[in-house]
Amino acid sequence: MSGGPIGAAESFHEAARRSRSQGAAFAGLDYDRAPLLVIWESTRSCALVCKHCRASAIMGRDPRELGTAEGFKLLDETAAMGTPIFIVSGGDPLQRDDLEALLAHGKSRGLRMGTIPAATERLTRERLAALARAGVDQVAFSLDAPSAEEHDGFRGVAGSFEKVMAALGWARELGLPVQINTCFAAWNFARLDAMIELVRGLGIVFWEVFFLVPTGRGSAMDGVRPEQFEEAFAKLHALSREAGFVVKLTEAQHYRRYLLQRPPDERPRAMGASAPAVNAGKGFLFVDFKGEVYPSGFLPVAVGDVRKTPLGEIYREAPLLKSLRAPALLSGKCGACEYRAVCAGSRARAFALTGDPLASDPACGYEPASFGKSVAK
Ligand code: SF4
Repeated sequence: MSGGPIGAAESFHEAARRSRSQGAAFAGLDYDRAPLLVIWESTRSCALVCKHCRASAIMGRDPRELGTAEGFKLLDETAAMGTPIFIVSGGDPLQRDDLEALLAHGKSRGLRMGTIPAATERLTRERLAALARAGVDQVAFSLDAPSAEEHDGFRGVAGSFEKVMAALGWARELGLPVQINTCFAAWNFARLDAMIELVRGLGIVFWEVFFLVPTGRGSAMDGVRPEQFEEAFAKLHALSREAGFVVKLTEAQHYRRYLLQRPPDERPRAMGASAPAVNAGKGFLFVDFKGEVYPSGFLPVAVGDVRKTPLGEIYREAPLLKSLRAPALLSGKCGACEYRAVCAGSRARAFALTGDPLASDPACGYEPASFGKSVAK
């Protein structure tokens, strides 16, 4: 990876500081009214064939995709709800020639805009520069293993690891803040320490650590076991206390329980002031390529269609979303848990593994004090 000019390096530090302060800035959001972020699967088209792909991405464009004008309307409705963050996802969003126009439109509506390009031949320095000119606030690249051999084997295309490394260098030269997304499952959990060492040196502002929800192509894969979650929490918590970038865990809601079990001086300073925990349909909304709305990309139960109903109305009124925002409706261990209001477990994983989005998250090993000892962890 090539190094960047000092000015670009300074902008990375500034971007990291901004990212860290976001939680406090969004603390006043009412998740019954608007989500913290909306992710739009702008296309399913992608040249990669990743084994865990939620979307089971395809090669060609689907004629049912939302068009440019419909994308603008989606951005308008997101901003009108009061949601501050919008992510243009895929598939590979670089497959859309109007990506820059969509990013610029979102910026004109006051949204913080991010996108997640796939590491294919479409990802070039010129395209990244175009995204920067369009005003993108942050770009995310996926890295799931610390070596080219492991990562490319998982992504199904040779050269994708090196492409991410090249893109990191281009982004640094362009002063573009970068996020790395990593998805841990049974196959790569043993590489957690090596991944931590890798991301430490990448000059990123944000590391989003996903934990597999078995859906889409990933439904044939094994996830991380409860005791491995606790091990990961300890390592990622230690990293977050000294890293110069944000460490964010996704589909690991019980990390909040882990943090609250730590001594007060080991909890993140911003925790008390940060936005409430995001969960499927609670602070989060996913819109698929043809405009159908879901609580999360990992919880495949449609709750509306933006071609028929305004996004804000869907978010506030859909019965499933209302249920997902009501901790009192949770069942099993999560329903009895003293941490349910701040954690509630992964609703997507509960659905994937039990068929009930309000059941307990099977990935949590915690046994609530008021729950029967006869219940297996
Ligand atoms: S039992 Fe459920 S609510 Fe309690 S900490 Fe575990 S996942 Fe969270």
